Amino acid sequence: MTTNDRITRFTIVGGGSAGWLAASLLVASLNRRNDGPDTEVTVIESPNLPIIGVGEATTLSTFVTFAQMRIDEQDFLNHCDASFKGAVRFKGWNINSDGSDGDYYHPFDAPKPIFGVHPAYHYHRRAVRGTQQPSFAHSMSVLPTLMDANRAPKMLESDPFEGLANYSFHLDASLMGEYLKNYCTTLGVTYISDDVTDVTLDERGFVSALELKERSTHPVEFVIDCSGFRSLILRQAMGEDFIPYGDHLLCDRALAVQIPHREGAPLEPYTTSTALGAGWSWNVPLYSRRGTGYVFSSQFRTDDEAIDEFLEHLGEDGKDAEPRVIPMAIGRARHSWVKNCLGVGLSAGFIEPLESTSFHLIQVAIRRFLDHLPDRNCDPVLIDRYNHLVTDMYEDIRDFIAMHYAISNREGGFWETARGENVIPERVRERLALWKHKLPTELDIETTNPLFTEWSYLYVLFGKNFVDDVEYPLEAAVSDEDYDEFVATMDKQRQQLLFQAPDHRRFLDSLREKGTEAWYRP
Ligand SMILES: Cc1cc2nc3c(=O)[nH]c(=O)nc-3n(C[C@H](O)[C@H](O)[C@H](O)COP(=O)(O)OP(=O)(O)OC[C@H]3O[C@@H](n4cnc5c(N)ncnc54)[C@H](O)[C@@H]3O)c2cc1C
Repeated sequence: MTTNDRITRFTIVGGGSAGWLAASLLVASLNRRNDGPDTEVTVIESPNLPIIGVGEATTLSTFVTFAQMRIDEQDFLNHCDASFKGAVRFKGWNINSDGSDGDYYHPFDAPKPIFGVHPAYHYHRRAVRGTQQPSFAHSMSVLPTLMDANRAPKMLESDPFEGLANYSFHLDASLMGEYLKNYCTTLGVTYISDDVTDVTLDERGFVSALELKERSTHPVEFVIDCSGFRSLILRQAMGEDFIPYGDHLLCDRALAVQIPHREGAPLEPYTTSTALGAGWSWNVPLYSRRGTGYVFSSQFRTDDEAIDEFLEHLGEDGKDAEPRVIPMAIGRARHSWVKNCLGVGLSAGFIEPLESTSFHLIQVAIRRFLDHLPDRNCDPVLIDRYNHLVTDMYEDIRDFIAMHYAISNREGGFWETARGENVIPERVRERLALWKHKLPTELDIETTNPLFTEWSYLYVLFGKNFVDDVEYPLEAAVSDEDYDEFVATMDKQRQQLLFQAPDHRRFLDSLREKGTEAWYRP
Protein backbone atom coordinates (compact mmCIF):
# COMPACT_ATOMS: atom_id res chain seq x y z
CA MET A 1 0.00 0.00 0.00
CA THR A 2 1.18 3.54 -0.67
CA THR A 3 0.12 6.40 1.58
CA ASN A 4 -2.18 7.53 -1.23
CA ASP A 5 -4.19 4.33 -1.00
CA ARG A 6 -5.17 4.85 2.63
CA ILE A 7 -8.91 5.24 3.14
CA THR A 8 -9.40 8.76 4.42
CA ARG A 9 -13.21 8.93 4.37
CA PHE A 10 -15.77 6.48 5.68
CA THR A 11 -19.44 7.02 4.90
CA ILE A 12 -22.03 5.37 7.13
CA VAL A 13 -25.61 5.17 5.88
CA GLY A 14 -28.07 4.89 8.78
CA GLY A 15 -28.46 6.55 12.14
CA GLY A 16 -29.79 3.65 14.19
CA SER A 17 -27.80 1.83 16.87
CA ALA A 18 -25.66 0.17 14.20
CA GLY A 19 -24.77 3.45 12.49
CA TRP A 20 -23.82 5.27 15.66
CA LEU A 21 -22.01 2.35 17.24
CA ALA A 22 -20.03 1.89 14.02
CA ALA A 23 -19.20 5.61 13.84
CA SER A 24 -18.21 5.68 17.53
CA LEU A 25 -15.89 2.72 17.23
CA LEU A 26 -14.32 3.97 14.00
CA VAL A 27 -13.69 7.45 15.26
CA ALA A 28 -12.49 6.27 18.67
CA SER A 29 -10.09 3.80 17.06
CA LEU A 30 -8.82 5.57 13.96
CA ASN A 31 -8.41 9.10 15.30
CA ARG A 32 -6.72 8.33 18.61
CA ARG A 33 -3.34 9.81 17.69
CA ASN A 34 -3.35 13.58 17.90
CA ASP A 35 -0.54 13.82 15.37
CA GLY A 36 -1.87 11.04 13.11
CA PRO A 37 -3.66 11.49 9.81
CA ASP A 38 -7.32 12.10 10.53
CA THR A 39 -9.98 9.83 9.09
CA GLU A 40 -13.22 11.53 8.15
CA VAL A 41 -16.38 9.73 9.24
CA THR A 42 -19.77 10.86 7.91
CA VAL A 43 -23.14 9.51 9.00
CA ILE A 44 -26.06 9.98 6.61
CA GLU A 45 -29.46 9.38 8.14
CA SER A 46 -32.86 9.67 6.52
CA PRO A 47 -35.11 12.27 8.21
CA ASN A 48 -38.09 10.27 6.93
CA LEU A 49 -37.34 6.67 7.85
CA PRO A 50 -37.37 6.05 11.60
CA ILE A 51 -34.96 3.70 13.35
CA ILE A 52 -36.37 0.35 14.43
CA GLY A 53 -36.45 1.62 18.01
CA VAL A 54 -36.16 -1.73 19.78
CA GLY A 55 -33.00 -3.41 21.01
CA GLU A 56 -32.64 -2.49 24.65
CA ALA A 57 -30.80 -5.42 26.22
CA THR A 58 -27.08 -5.91 25.74
CA THR A 59 -24.30 -8.39 26.43
CA LEU A 60 -20.90 -7.97 28.09
CA SER A 61 -19.37 -6.67 24.84
CA THR A 62 -21.32 -3.40 25.21
CA PHE A 63 -19.78 -2.94 28.64
CA VAL A 64 -16.33 -3.47 27.11
CA THR A 65 -17.02 -1.14 24.17
CA PHE A 66 -18.30 1.71 26.32
CA ALA A 67 -15.38 1.34 28.70
CA GLN A 68 -12.95 1.47 25.76
CA MET A 69 -14.71 4.49 24.30
CA ARG A 70 -14.10 6.20 27.66
CA ILE A 71 -17.75 7.02 27.99
CA ASP A 72 -18.69 8.49 31.37
CA GLU A 73 -20.67 5.58 32.81
CA GLN A 74 -22.76 7.63 35.20
CA ASP A 75 -23.62 10.13 32.50
CA PHE A 76 -24.56 7.31 30.13
CA LEU A 77 -26.75 5.56 32.73
CA ASN A 78 -28.62 8.76 33.48
CA HIS A 79 -29.01 9.94 29.91
CA CYS A 80 -30.04 6.63 28.36
CA ASP A 81 -32.57 5.65 31.05
CA ALA A 82 -30.27 2.68 31.52
CA SER A 83 -30.23 -0.02 34.17
CA PHE A 84 -27.99 -2.97 34.90
CA LYS A 85 -28.21 -6.44 33.45
CA GLY A 86 -26.43 -9.41 34.99
CA ALA A 87 -28.31 -12.31 33.40
CA VAL A 88 -31.20 -13.49 31.27
CA ARG A 89 -33.92 -15.27 33.21
CA PHE A 90 -35.86 -17.95 31.32
CA LYS A 91 -39.36 -18.70 32.52
CA GLY A 92 -41.49 -21.57 31.30
CA TRP A 93 -39.08 -22.71 28.61
CA ASN A 94 -39.32 -26.16 30.13
CA ILE A 95 -41.89 -27.92 32.22
CA ASN A 96 -40.45 -29.62 35.30
CA SER A 97 -41.31 -33.23 36.19
CA ASP A 98 -43.77 -31.94 38.83
CA GLY A 99 -45.59 -29.90 36.15
CA SER A 100 -44.26 -26.53 37.31
CA ASP A 101 -42.71 -24.04 34.90
CA GLY A 102 -38.93 -24.22 34.59
CA ASP A 103 -37.16 -21.04 35.71
CA TYR A 104 -33.43 -20.55 35.36
CA TYR A 105 -30.80 -17.87 34.90
CA HIS A 106 -28.15 -17.54 32.22
CA PRO A 107 -25.74 -15.26 34.12
CA PHE A 108 -22.78 -13.27 32.82
CA ASP A 109 -20.13 -15.05 34.85
CA ALA A 110 -18.65 -18.46 35.50
CA PRO A 111 -16.33 -20.07 38.04
CA LYS A 112 -12.82 -21.38 37.49
CA PRO A 113 -12.09 -25.11 37.29
CA ILE A 114 -11.53 -27.00 40.54
CA PHE A 115 -8.07 -28.56 40.25
CA GLY A 116 -8.47 -28.71 36.50
CA VAL A 117 -11.97 -30.23 36.57
CA HIS A 118 -15.13 -28.40 35.58
CA PRO A 119 -17.18 -27.68 38.75
CA ALA A 120 -20.17 -28.73 36.63
CA TYR A 121 -19.09 -32.35 37.05
CA HIS A 122 -19.06 -31.96 40.82
CA TYR A 123 -22.50 -30.37 40.79
CA HIS A 124 -23.87 -33.04 38.51
CA ARG A 125 -22.49 -35.87 40.65
CA ARG A 126 -24.40 -34.53 43.64
CA ALA A 127 -27.55 -33.94 41.60
CA VAL A 128 -27.52 -37.53 40.34
CA ARG A 129 -27.17 -38.81 43.92
CA GLY A 130 -30.23 -36.76 44.89
CA THR A 131 -28.38 -34.26 47.10
CA GLN A 132 -30.49 -31.12 47.62
CA GLN A 133 -28.60 -28.11 46.28
CA PRO A 134 -29.42 -24.70 44.83
CA SER A 135 -29.96 -24.48 41.07
CA PHE A 136 -26.94 -24.96 38.83
CA ALA A 137 -26.67 -21.23 38.03
CA HIS A 138 -27.07 -20.31 41.71
CA SER A 139 -24.29 -22.75 42.56
CA MET A 140 -21.82 -21.77 39.85
CA SER A 141 -22.31 -18.01 39.75
CA VAL A 142 -22.74 -15.24 42.29
CA LEU A 143 -25.03 -13.28 40.01
CA PRO A 144 -28.35 -15.16 40.47
CA THR A 145 -28.24 -14.38 44.19
CA LEU A 146 -27.81 -10.68 43.40
CA MET A 147 -30.53 -10.90 40.74
CA ASP A 148 -33.00 -12.56 43.15
CA ALA A 149 -32.41 -9.73 45.62
CA ASN A 150 -32.69 -7.04 42.87
CA ARG A 151 -29.27 -5.65 43.69
CA ALA A 152 -27.02 -3.48 41.54
CA PRO A 153 -23.76 -5.21 40.58
CA LYS A 154 -21.68 -2.29 41.87
CA MET A 155 -21.46 0.23 44.70
CA LEU A 156 -21.83 3.99 44.37
CA GLU A 157 -18.14 4.29 45.25
CA SER A 158 -17.10 1.79 42.56
CA ASP A 159 -15.01 3.17 39.72
CA PRO A 160 -16.69 3.53 36.32
CA PHE A 161 -17.00 0.15 34.63
CA GLU A 162 -15.81 -1.60 37.79
CA GLY A 163 -18.29 -4.04 39.27
CA LEU A 164 -18.68 -6.31 42.25
CA ALA A 165 -19.68 -8.82 39.56
CA ASN A 166 -19.92 -8.86 35.76
CA TYR A 167 -22.66 -6.75 34.24
CA SER A 168 -23.97 -5.10 31.14
CA PHE A 169 -26.87 -2.72 30.53
CA HIS A 170 -30.48 -2.29 29.55
CA LEU A 171 -30.86 1.00 27.68
CA ASP A 172 -33.33 3.09 25.70
CA ALA A 173 -32.36 2.51 22.06
CA SER A 174 -33.41 5.99 20.87
CA LEU A 175 -31.69 7.76 23.75
CA MET A 176 -28.56 5.72 23.19
CA GLY A 177 -28.58 6.74 19.50
CA GLU A 178 -28.79 10.38 20.58
CA TYR A 179 -26.05 9.85 23.14
CA LEU A 180 -23.69 8.24 20.65
CA LYS A 181 -24.52 10.89 18.08
CA ASN A 182 -23.35 13.51 20.53
CA TYR A 183 -20.24 11.45 21.31
CA CYS A 184 -19.46 11.15 17.60
CA THR A 185 -20.10 14.74 16.61
CA THR A 186 -17.99 15.89 19.57
CA LEU A 187 -15.19 13.79 18.11
CA GLY A 188 -15.60 15.33 14.65
CA VAL A 189 -18.01 12.97 12.88
CA THR A 190 -20.03 14.79 10.20
CA TYR A 191 -23.79 14.27 10.32
CA ILE A 192 -26.01 14.62 7.25
CA SER A 193 -29.76 14.38 7.54
CA ASP A 194 -30.88 13.33 4.07
CA ASP A 195 -32.25 10.39 2.08
CA VAL A 196 -29.97 8.27 -0.06
CA THR A 197 -31.95 7.90 -3.28
CA ASP A 198 -29.46 6.12 -5.51
CA VAL A 199 -26.17 4.26 -5.35
CA THR A 200 -23.56 4.56 -8.11
CA LEU A 201 -21.18 1.67 -8.76
CA ASP A 202 -17.96 2.05 -10.79
CA GLU A 203 -16.73 -0.38 -13.44
CA ARG A 204 -15.26 -2.70 -10.75
CA GLY A 205 -18.59 -2.82 -8.91
CA PHE A 206 -17.28 -0.59 -6.09
CA VAL A 207 -19.63 2.02 -4.65
CA SER A 208 -18.35 5.34 -5.98
CA ALA A 209 -21.11 7.74 -4.94
CA LEU A 210 -24.46 8.12 -3.21
CA GLU A 211 -27.18 10.36 -4.56
CA LEU A 212 -28.86 12.37 -1.83
CA LYS A 213 -32.36 13.81 -2.11
CA GLU A 214 -31.63 17.33 -0.88
CA ARG A 215 -27.91 17.67 -1.43
CA SER A 216 -25.47 17.02 -4.20
CA THR A 217 -23.81 13.68 -4.94
CA HIS A 218 -21.84 12.30 -2.00
CA PRO A 219 -18.57 10.64 -3.18
CA VAL A 220 -17.61 7.37 -1.46
CA GLU A 221 -14.26 5.79 -0.61
CA PHE A 222 -15.67 3.13 1.72
CA VAL A 223 -19.30 2.79 2.79
CA ILE A 224 -20.78 1.08 5.83
CA ASP A 225 -24.38 0.08 5.22
CA CYS A 226 -26.34 0.49 8.45
CA SER A 227 -29.68 1.07 6.72
CA GLY A 228 -31.51 -1.59 8.74
CA PHE A 229 -33.65 -4.37 7.26
CA ARG A 230 -33.73 -2.41 3.96
CA SER A 231 -30.03 -3.20 3.38
CA LEU A 232 -30.01 -0.39 0.87
CA ILE A 233 -26.49 -0.83 -0.44
CA LEU A 234 -25.28 -4.33 0.43
CA ARG A 235 -28.35 -6.20 -0.71
CA GLN A 236 -30.32 -3.75 -2.84
CA ALA A 237 -27.55 -2.00 -4.80
CA MET A 238 -24.86 -4.68 -4.75
CA GLY A 239 -27.26 -7.59 -5.00
CA GLU A 240 -25.77 -9.65 -2.18
CA ASP A 241 -27.84 -12.77 -1.43
CA PHE A 242 -29.70 -13.28 1.81
CA ILE A 243 -29.34 -16.63 3.57
CA PRO A 244 -32.54 -17.14 5.55
CA TYR A 245 -32.40 -19.03 8.86
CA GLY A 246 -36.13 -19.73 8.84
CA ASP A 247 -35.56 -23.50 8.45
CA HIS A 248 -33.95 -23.54 11.90
CA LEU A 249 -35.53 -20.60 13.72
CA LEU A 250 -39.28 -20.33 13.25
CA CYS A 251 -40.00 -16.92 14.79
CA ASP A 252 -40.37 -14.23 12.13
CA ARG A 253 -42.48 -11.48 13.69
CA ALA A 254 -42.51 -9.46 16.87
CA LEU A 255 -44.85 -7.26 18.85
CA ALA A 256 -43.22 -4.46 20.82
CA VAL A 257 -44.53 -1.99 23.37
CA GLN A 258 -43.31 0.16 26.25
CA ILE A 259 -45.19 -0.04 29.54
CA PRO A 260 -44.80 1.58 32.95
CA HIS A 261 -43.27 -0.18 35.93
CA ARG A 262 -45.68 -1.59 38.44
CA GLU A 263 -46.14 0.77 41.37
CA GLY A 264 -43.60 -0.10 44.08
CA ALA A 265 -42.17 -3.07 42.17
CA PRO A 266 -38.42 -3.72 42.50
CA LEU A 267 -36.23 -2.94 39.50
CA GLU A 268 -34.99 -6.26 38.17
CA PRO A 269 -31.33 -6.26 37.12
CA TYR A 270 -31.91 -8.90 34.44
CA THR A 271 -33.82 -9.49 31.21
CA THR A 272 -36.66 -12.00 31.38
CA SER A 273 -37.75 -14.27 28.56
CA THR A 274 -41.07 -16.04 29.15
CA ALA A 275 -42.18 -18.83 26.83
CA LEU A 276 -45.62 -18.32 25.26
CA GLY A 277 -47.71 -20.39 22.83
CA ALA A 278 -45.82 -19.60 19.62
CA GLY A 279 -42.59 -18.00 20.83
CA TRP A 280 -41.55 -15.95 23.81
CA SER A 281 -42.01 -12.58 25.46
CA TRP A 282 -39.16 -10.34 26.57
CA ASN A 283 -39.18 -7.99 29.52
CA VAL A 284 -36.44 -5.37 29.69
CA PRO A 285 -36.67 -3.16 32.79
CA LEU A 286 -35.20 0.29 32.14
CA TYR A 287 -34.96 2.85 34.93
CA SER A 288 -38.24 4.63 34.15
CA ARG A 289 -40.25 2.04 32.16
CA ARG A 290 -40.28 -1.50 30.78
CA GLY A 291 -39.74 -2.57 27.19
CA THR A 292 -41.66 -5.71 26.38
CA GLY A 293 -42.79 -7.70 23.38
CA TYR A 294 -43.64 -11.05 21.87
CA VAL A 295 -41.40 -12.78 19.34
CA PHE A 296 -43.56 -15.31 17.53
CA SER A 297 -43.94 -17.49 14.48
CA SER A 298 -46.45 -16.45 11.81
CA GLN A 299 -46.89 -20.15 10.99
CA PHE A 300 -48.66 -20.56 14.31
CA ARG A 301 -50.24 -17.17 15.10
CA THR A 302 -51.80 -14.40 13.04
CA ASP A 303 -50.91 -10.91 14.24
CA ASP A 304 -54.32 -10.55 15.90
CA GLU A 305 -54.00 -13.88 17.68
CA ALA A 306 -50.52 -12.96 18.86
CA ILE A 307 -51.73 -9.57 20.14
CA ASP A 308 -54.55 -11.23 22.10
CA GLU A 309 -52.17 -13.77 23.61
CA PHE A 310 -49.57 -11.13 24.44
CA LEU A 311 -52.07 -8.79 26.10
CA GLU A 312 -53.40 -11.69 28.14
CA HIS A 313 -49.82 -12.45 29.22
CA LEU A 314 -49.32 -8.80 30.27
CA GLY A 315 -52.60 -8.76 32.17
CA GLU A 316 -53.32 -5.54 34.06
CA ASP A 317 -49.80 -4.26 33.18
CA GLY A 318 -50.80 -4.09 29.51
CA LYS A 319 -54.22 -2.47 29.89
CA ASP A 320 -53.27 0.59 27.79
CA ALA A 321 -50.74 -1.21 25.58
CA GLU A 322 -50.96 -0.91 21.81
CA PRO A 323 -48.23 -3.19 20.53
CA ARG A 324 -46.72 -2.47 17.13
CA VAL A 325 -45.99 -5.35 14.76
CA ILE A 326 -42.43 -5.77 13.47
CA PRO A 327 -41.72 -8.24 10.66
CA MET A 328 -38.27 -9.81 11.16
CA ALA A 329 -35.97 -11.07 8.40
CA ILE A 330 -34.07 -13.83 10.21
CA GLY A 331 -30.81 -14.74 8.51
CA ARG A 332 -27.72 -13.03 7.14
CA ALA A 333 -26.25 -11.61 3.97
CA ARG A 334 -24.12 -14.31 2.32
CA HIS A 335 -21.15 -11.95 2.64
CA SER A 336 -21.42 -8.88 4.81
CA TRP A 337 -18.32 -7.28 3.30
CA VAL A 338 -18.43 -6.89 -0.50
CA LYS A 339 -15.80 -4.77 -2.30
CA ASN A 340 -15.88 -1.35 -0.56
CA CYS A 341 -19.14 -1.91 1.30
CA LEU A 342 -19.51 -3.38 4.77
CA GLY A 343 -22.97 -4.26 6.06
CA VAL A 344 -23.39 -3.79 9.81
CA GLY A 345 -26.47 -4.26 11.99
CA LEU A 346 -29.81 -5.36 10.57
CA SER A 347 -28.63 -4.71 7.00
CA ALA A 348 -26.11 -7.56 7.43
CA GLY A 349 -28.33 -9.96 9.33
CA PHE A 350 -30.50 -10.63 12.31
CA ILE A 351 -31.09 -13.51 14.69
CA GLU A 352 -34.08 -13.39 17.02
CA PRO A 353 -33.16 -11.36 20.10
CA LEU A 354 -33.45 -14.16 22.68
CA GLU A 355 -29.94 -13.53 24.02
CA SER A 356 -29.70 -9.86 22.95
CA THR A 357 -26.98 -10.62 20.44
CA SER A 358 -27.42 -7.85 17.84
CA PHE A 359 -25.44 -5.13 19.59
CA HIS A 360 -22.72 -7.69 20.11
CA LEU A 361 -22.72 -8.53 16.40
CA ILE A 362 -22.49 -4.84 15.51
CA GLN A 363 -19.53 -4.24 17.80
CA VAL A 364 -17.68 -7.37 16.77
CA ALA A 365 -18.28 -6.60 13.09
CA ILE A 366 -16.58 -3.23 13.47
CA ARG A 367 -13.76 -4.58 15.66
CA ARG A 368 -13.02 -7.33 13.16
CA PHE A 369 -13.20 -4.85 10.31
CA LEU A 370 -10.64 -2.67 12.10
CA ASP A 371 -8.49 -5.75 12.52
CA HIS A 372 -8.72 -6.27 8.73
CA LEU A 373 -8.57 -2.56 7.87
CA PRO A 374 -8.15 -2.35 4.09
CA ASP A 375 -6.74 0.32 1.82
CA ARG A 376 -8.87 1.64 -1.03
CA ASN A 377 -8.26 -1.50 -3.08
CA CYS A 378 -9.97 -3.69 -0.49
CA ASP A 379 -7.87 -6.77 -1.09
CA PRO A 380 -10.01 -9.93 -1.34
CA VAL A 381 -7.66 -11.70 1.10
CA LEU A 382 -8.89 -9.39 3.87
CA ILE A 383 -12.50 -9.57 2.73
CA ASP A 384 -12.56 -13.36 2.55
CA ARG A 385 -11.04 -13.79 5.98
CA TYR A 386 -13.42 -11.24 7.49
CA ASN A 387 -16.47 -12.84 5.90
CA HIS A 388 -15.36 -16.24 7.11
CA LEU A 389 -15.10 -15.01 10.71
CA VAL A 390 -18.40 -13.16 10.58
CA THR A 391 -20.26 -16.10 9.04
CA ASP A 392 -18.85 -18.30 11.75
CA MET A 393 -20.12 -15.88 14.38
CA TYR A 394 -23.66 -15.79 12.93
CA GLU A 395 -23.88 -19.57 12.67
CA ASP A 396 -22.56 -19.96 16.19
CA ILE A 397 -25.22 -17.63 17.59
CA ARG A 398 -27.95 -19.21 15.45
CA ASP A 399 -27.04 -22.62 16.82
CA PHE A 400 -26.95 -21.47 20.41
CA ILE A 401 -30.42 -19.94 20.03
CA ALA A 402 -31.72 -23.02 18.21
CA MET A 403 -30.53 -25.18 21.11
CA HIS A 404 -32.96 -23.38 23.45
CA TYR A 405 -35.81 -24.75 21.33
CA ALA A 406 -34.21 -28.12 20.61
CA ILE A 407 -34.19 -29.16 24.27
CA SER A 408 -37.45 -27.61 25.37
CA ASN A 409 -40.16 -30.09 26.38
CA ARG A 410 -43.09 -27.66 26.06
CA GLU A 411 -46.11 -28.99 24.29
CA GLY A 412 -48.00 -27.38 21.41
CA GLY A 413 -47.61 -27.11 17.65
CA PHE A 414 -44.98 -24.38 17.70
CA TRP A 415 -42.74 -25.98 20.32
CA GLU A 416 -42.95 -29.46 18.91
CA THR A 417 -42.17 -28.21 15.40
CA ALA A 418 -39.30 -26.05 16.67
CA ARG A 419 -37.55 -29.10 18.09
CA GLY A 420 -38.28 -31.31 15.07
CA GLU A 421 -35.39 -33.38 13.73
CA ASN A 422 -35.33 -31.41 10.46
CA VAL A 423 -35.44 -28.03 12.23
CA ILE A 424 -32.56 -28.50 14.68
CA PRO A 425 -29.29 -27.51 12.95
CA GLU A 426 -26.99 -30.47 12.35
CA ARG A 427 -24.23 -29.10 14.56
CA VAL A 428 -26.67 -28.68 17.45
CA ARG A 429 -27.76 -32.30 17.06
CA GLU A 430 -24.14 -33.43 17.06
CA ARG A 431 -23.29 -31.38 20.12
CA LEU A 432 -26.32 -32.57 22.06
CA ALA A 433 -25.43 -36.18 21.27
CA LEU A 434 -21.90 -35.53 22.51
CA TRP A 435 -23.11 -33.85 25.70
CA LYS A 436 -25.05 -36.93 26.71
CA HIS A 437 -21.58 -38.48 27.23
CA LYS A 438 -19.51 -35.57 28.48
CA LEU A 439 -20.21 -32.04 29.63
CA PRO A 440 -19.33 -29.16 27.28
CA THR A 441 -15.83 -27.75 27.44
CA GLU A 442 -14.26 -24.99 25.38
CA LEU A 443 -12.92 -27.63 22.97
CA ASP A 444 -16.48 -28.38 21.87
CA ILE A 445 -17.11 -24.80 20.66
CA GLU A 446 -15.09 -24.57 17.46
CA THR A 447 -15.97 -20.93 16.74
CA THR A 448 -13.19 -18.34 16.93
CA ASN A 449 -13.70 -16.20 20.00
CA PRO A 450 -17.35 -17.21 20.53
CA LEU A 451 -19.86 -15.01 22.34
CA PHE A 452 -21.22 -18.06 24.11
CA THR A 453 -18.59 -20.11 25.89
CA GLU A 454 -19.16 -23.60 27.22
CA TRP A 455 -20.55 -21.98 30.36
CA SER A 456 -23.47 -20.48 28.48
CA TYR A 457 -24.24 -23.93 27.10
CA LEU A 458 -23.95 -25.43 30.58
CA TYR A 459 -26.37 -22.91 32.09
CA VAL A 460 -28.94 -23.76 29.43
CA LEU A 461 -28.40 -27.54 29.55
CA PHE A 462 -28.71 -27.68 33.34
CA GLY A 463 -31.50 -25.07 33.36
CA LYS A 464 -33.54 -27.23 31.01
CA ASN A 465 -32.86 -30.51 32.80
CA PHE A 466 -31.05 -31.92 29.75
CA VAL A 467 -28.48 -33.69 31.94
CA ASP A 468 -30.93 -35.16 34.48
CA ASP A 469 -30.90 -38.73 33.23
CA VAL A 470 -27.17 -39.00 32.49
CA GLU A 471 -24.15 -40.15 34.49
CA TYR A 472 -20.80 -38.95 33.22
CA PRO A 473 -17.79 -41.28 33.67
CA LEU A 474 -15.56 -38.39 34.76
CA GLU A 475 -17.71 -37.52 37.74
CA ALA A 476 -16.73 -40.77 39.46
CA ALA A 477 -13.25 -39.25 39.80
CA VAL A 478 -14.11 -35.88 41.37
CA SER A 479 -13.51 -35.24 45.04
CA ASP A 480 -16.31 -34.28 47.43
CA GLU A 481 -13.85 -32.41 49.65
CA ASP A 482 -12.71 -30.24 46.75
CA TYR A 483 -16.28 -29.32 45.94
CA ASP A 484 -17.15 -28.65 49.61
CA GLU A 485 -14.36 -26.11 49.63
CA PHE A 486 -15.62 -24.55 46.39
CA VAL A 487 -19.18 -24.32 47.77
CA ALA A 488 -17.96 -22.71 50.99
CA THR A 489 -15.88 -20.13 49.10
CA MET A 490 -18.76 -19.26 46.78
CA ASP A 491 -21.16 -18.93 49.72
CA LYS A 492 -18.79 -16.54 51.44
CA GLN A 493 -18.46 -14.49 48.28
CA ARG A 494 -22.26 -14.32 47.93
CA GLN A 495 -22.75 -13.18 51.51
CA GLN A 496 -20.13 -10.50 51.06
CA LEU A 497 -21.75 -9.29 47.83
CA LEU A 498 -25.19 -9.16 49.42
CA PHE A 499 -23.69 -7.06 52.16
CA GLN A 500 -22.03 -4.64 49.71
CA ALA A 501 -24.36 -4.45 46.70
CA PRO A 502 -27.07 -1.76 46.96
CA ASP A 503 -30.66 -2.07 45.84
CA HIS A 504 -30.77 -1.64 42.05
CA ARG A 505 -33.38 1.10 41.94
CA ARG A 506 -31.91 2.96 44.88
CA PHE A 507 -28.50 2.91 43.23
CA LEU A 508 -29.90 4.50 40.05
CA ASP A 509 -31.96 7.00 42.08
CA SER A 510 -28.76 8.07 43.82
CA LEU A 511 -26.96 8.56 40.52
CA ARG A 512 -29.70 10.93 39.46
CA GLU A 513 -29.58 12.80 42.74
CA LYS A 514 -25.85 13.24 42.29
CA GLY A 515 -26.54 14.57 38.80
CA THR A 516 -24.04 14.39 35.98
CA GLU A 517 -21.71 17.03 34.82
CA ALA A 518 -22.15 16.81 31.10
CA TRP A 519 -22.41 14.55 28.14
CA TYR A 520 -19.29 12.86 26.95
CA ARG A 521 -16.26 15.13 26.81
CA PRO A 522 -13.15 13.94 25.02
C1 LIG B 1 -38.19 -7.23 18.11
C2 LIG B 1 -36.73 -6.90 18.20
C3 LIG B 1 -36.10 -6.89 19.44
C4 LIG B 1 -34.74 -6.63 19.52
N1 LIG B 1 -34.10 -6.69 20.74
C5 LIG B 1 -32.76 -6.55 20.79
C6 LIG B 1 -32.07 -6.62 22.02
O1 LIG B 1 -32.65 -6.78 23.09
N2 LIG B 1 -30.72 -6.47 22.01
C7 LIG B 1 -30.03 -6.26 20.85
O2 LIG B 1 -28.80 -6.18 20.88
N3 LIG B 1 -30.68 -6.12 19.69
C8 LIG B 1 -32.01 -6.27 19.63
N4 LIG B 1 -32.65 -6.13 18.43
C9 LIG B 1 -31.88 -5.72 17.26
C10 LIG B 1 -31.64 -4.21 17.31
O3 LIG B 1 -32.87 -3.52 17.37
C11 LIG B 1 -30.86 -3.75 16.08
O4 LIG B 1 -29.77 -4.58 15.86
C12 LIG B 1 -30.34 -2.37 16.29
O5 LIG B 1 -31.37 -1.49 16.64
C13 LIG B 1 -29.63 -1.86 15.07
O6 LIG B 1 -30.54 -1.52 14.07
P1 LIG B 1 -29.96 -0.81 12.77
O7 LIG B 1 -29.22 0.39 13.20
O8 LIG B 1 -29.22 -1.84 11.99
O9 LIG B 1 -31.25 -0.45 11.96
P2 LIG B 1 -32.37 0.71 12.19
O10 LIG B 1 -32.56 1.04 13.61
O11 LIG B 1 -33.56 0.24 11.43
O12 LIG B 1 -31.76 1.98 11.49
C14 LIG B 1 -31.71 2.11 10.09
C15 LIG B 1 -31.26 3.50 9.75
O13 LIG B 1 -31.06 3.58 8.35
C16 LIG B 1 -31.62 4.78 7.88
N5 LIG B 1 -31.93 4.64 6.46
C17 LIG B 1 -32.63 3.67 5.86
N6 LIG B 1 -32.76 3.92 4.55
C18 LIG B 1 -32.11 5.08 4.32
C19 LIG B 1 -31.90 5.89 3.17
N7 LIG B 1 -32.41 5.57 1.99
N8 LIG B 1 -31.18 7.02 3.31
C20 LIG B 1 -30.67 7.40 4.50
N9 LIG B 1 -30.85 6.67 5.63
C21 LIG B 1 -31.56 5.54 5.54
C22 LIG B 1 -32.83 5.02 8.77
O14 LIG B 1 -33.23 6.39 8.76
C23 LIG B 1 -32.26 4.60 10.12
O15 LIG B 1 -31.59 5.69 10.71
C24 LIG B 1 -34.02 -6.36 18.33
C25 LIG B 1 -34.66 -6.32 17.10
C26 LIG B 1 -36.01 -6.61 17.02
C27 LIG B 1 -36.67 -6.61 15.68
